[in-house]
Amino acid sequence: MDKTLEQSMIKDLDFETTNAALFDFLDRSPVPFFAVRNMKEALEAAGFVQLLESERWDLRAGCAYYVTRNDSALIAFRIPGKEFTGFQIMASHCDSPVFKIKTNSEITVEKKYIKLNVEKYGGALYAPWLDRPLSVAGRVIAETEDGIETRLVNIDRDLLIIPNLAIHFNREVNDGYRFNLQKDLLPLLGEMSDHAAAGGGERETVDPGSRFLDLIAEEAGVRPAQILDADLYIYCRMKAAHVGLHNEYICSGRLDDLQCAFASLQGFLRAEPAESVAVHCVFDNEEVGSGSKQGAGGTFLYDTLHRINAAFGRTEEDYMRAVASSFLVSADNAHAVHPNHPDKSDPTNRPYMNRGIVIKYNASQRYVTDAVSASIFRSICRKAGVPFQTFANRSDMLGGSTLGQIALSQVSLNAVDIGLPQLAMHSPYETAGAKDTAYLIEAARVLFSGSVHSTGDGRYTLKFGE
Ligand code: ZN
Repeated sequence: MDKTLEQSMIKDLDFETTNAALFDFLDRSPVPFFAVRNMKEALEAAGFVQLLESERWDLRAGCAYYVTRNDSALIAFRIPGKEFTGFQIMASHCDSPVFKIKTNSEITVEKKYIKLNVEKYGGALYAPWLDRPLSVAGRVIAETEDGIETRLVNIDRDLLIIPNLAIHFNREVNDGYRFNLQKDLLPLLGEMSDHAAAGGGERETVDPGSRFLDLIAEEAGVRPAQILDADLYIYCRMKAAHVGLHNEYICSGRLDDLQCAFASLQGFLRAEPAESVAVHCVFDNEEVGSGSKQGAGGTFLYDTLHRINAAFGRTEEDYMRAVASSFLVSADNAHAVHPNHPDKSDPTNRPYMNRGIVIKYNASQRYVTDAVSASIFRSICRKAGVPFQTFANRSDMLGGSTLGQIALSQVSLNAVDIGLPQLAMHSPYETAGAKDTAYLIEAARVLFSGSVHSTGDGRYTLKFGE
């Protein structure tokens, strides 16, 4: 990146306002259902029209719409004012590694404690979940007169804790510890009253009619007997914050991947789609393989693009042509060089926080980036005037994968894997750069405003505004 260009852009980006809005989004989105609700609110405020998958879509050029699936995945799109030539898509995910509360959740211990039975969701770092305030958020399904309905719940107070075992009971713990998921990671909910204990016993499950269920029902505004089932997760109560000598870092839970989801939405709202349909797409279940109906492996994106195409009376042939002149950015956070473990990073592709968007490469295509898609994305960053850098795993280490490759099995098009550089990925409190969100917003704005016309295999006309 040209230094003068970088400096000239930075002053135009408002990092402070961006981070304040990002922090608000992170704090109010403890689980995917809330991330989707918060994005819906932003879209509604911007005049977007909600579509239901179960109803007919009558779409109009120049208008803006969104659709959700399972209340945990969302696709918003904006149709240009004239006949569109393709789709400009950014896809991210709104789930994070957490612990899910099992059904029949209460376990009593010696008639004194009530703890919750949980199982892991995704590949979390376990240690940072211990010894800090936690709470519960998710959805309950309530019985209604003619069926069922969903209510979101967030117990917005410090409710749970997973206490460590004192070092006196395990003096070797600092030499490395293997967590037992069924033993070490069950959160403490509270005390049993003497009255309740009179009828209780060790490992007796007390659903239905449990104290925990009562709390959830009250928060959901329903009677406990109305609750048919629930998807509830524990989350870390620590709020998003700045750290660093000059506040140059941000810390929060769920930066992977709400930081990208937020940047995608903000860029999307600021864009002016001229020739292509702009598509802001946020999937669920990336952390557990994307294989659900609301994950990148499902047909949500495929179905939505087809319905957009069909709503304008276009044929399958027109759809194929549009996809060939489309571009997908899979936006999912990347590993920055770690200050205590710089040797874990590749010798020549070394992303640092605050140095811009990371383009991710992997020869085995675990990242979908190739020379063509990286070149298109580099052009977008140059047009946006934001810095970018590159990531590859060390050749002797396996890395993660993203939803990019999985999404392409449903809709095959030119795609690039990118992300924002961060530390402590999959911790309940991660660290990233205070500047990078604003960079991605600007790149997303350019992506969504522009178009990529295929003029031959490997030849493209790129239109990214004046
Ligand atoms: Zn991720």
